[in-house]
Amino acid sequence: METKVFQSDQINQAAALLRQGELVAFPTETVYGLGANALLPESVKQVFSVKGRPSDNPLIVHVTDFSMTKEYVESYHPLTEKIVQHFWPGPLTLIFSIKTGSLSPVVTGGLSTAAFRMPDNKKTLSLIEETGAPLVGPSANTSGKPSPTTALHVYHDLKGKIAGILDDGATQIGVESTVLDLSGEVPTILRPGAVTKEKLEEVLGIEVPLDKHLVTESETPKAPGMKYKHYSPDTPVLMIKPADWKQAIAWAEMNNKKVGLLTTPKIADQYRSADRFVFADDTIEAATRGLFSGLRALDEAQKADIIFAEVFPDDHLGLAYMNRLKKAAAQNYFAEK
Ligand code: AMP
Ligand code: MG
Repeated sequence: METKVFQSDQINQAAALLRQGELVAFPTETVYGLGANALLPESVKQVFSVKGRPSDNPLIVHVTDFSMTKEYVESYHPLTEKIVQHFWPGPLTLIFSIKTGSLSPVVTGGLSTAAFRMPDNKKTLSLIEETGAPLVGPSANTSGKPSPTTALHVYHDLKGKIAGILDDGATQIGVESTVLDLSGEVPTILRPGAVTKEKLEEVLGIEVPLDKHLVTESETPKAPGMKYKHYSPDTPVLMIKPADWKQAIAWAEMNNKKVGLLTTPKIADQYRSADRFVFADDTIEAATRGLFSGLRALDEAQKADIIFAEVFPDDHLGLAYMNRLKKAAAQNYFAEK
């Protein structure tokens, strides 16, 4: 199959393919999504096979506005309106109880709830509108690999397997949306993202807990998909705390290991001999934007034996960054042996 790359004046062509049941990847502010018409179960099934995604991992349904969710949702949490007004369009996915049979079990993983999001990307909102149906959109990568933040990443993983990619350059945020469960009494964060715990608490005026599995890293997660290892490049990754860079580099030199660095300009300047992917600046926003593309760049250059990656504090956006990095590094920090 030829994978076409569509520009903004070709959205109608991409929408026609989706209506016919083909798969088209789309840009969002977080990462690129692998789009299929959410109302065509046979198309949604292809999403799982193309990505190699386990079938019990439910998908996010992408909508153009809040009213589009009403056809599917059984009951809304009392805080829904406030949350939607504040955060949609944006990097916040909401879980609601759904009307029985309103969405295929292929979409929901057989759960009585489903995940919805209105992405903040004009091209993709037009794409959904022109398709005339909500689109499922897991990250448009091979399952287990870093999520794609450019159309080229999507092309690298899925060329020949999907009908098209709607191109909109690099994504702004760089990690997947926050997932907030609104199907129970207490709004609970199932996955950290750019809508942070602190921001949610400020707007809602209540404590918004993290799901237990995020705290202990070992509890059985509420969403089946969360048990899977994710975001791993082939090259092993070690997390480096700011104070440990010198020791870590010395250890690598002593052991003749070729190192890839994923770090801030300040640290990178000190170690020019290594393969480097440098974040745009020292902020957590820049690091988050560059995390997946950095892992991909260092991995695909295939020269490094090991990737050393910068650790940030575990709060605000740092919680999302560290959540993805810990998975990529299989929880391993550098510690001098
Ligand atoms: P992805 O499409 O890879 O960004 O992943 C979507 C995330 O949303 C996964 O972590 C899913 O487990 C989660 N998710 C989707 N639907 C539900 C649901 N009904 N209940 C809980 N989590 C969900
Ligand atoms: Mg994904």
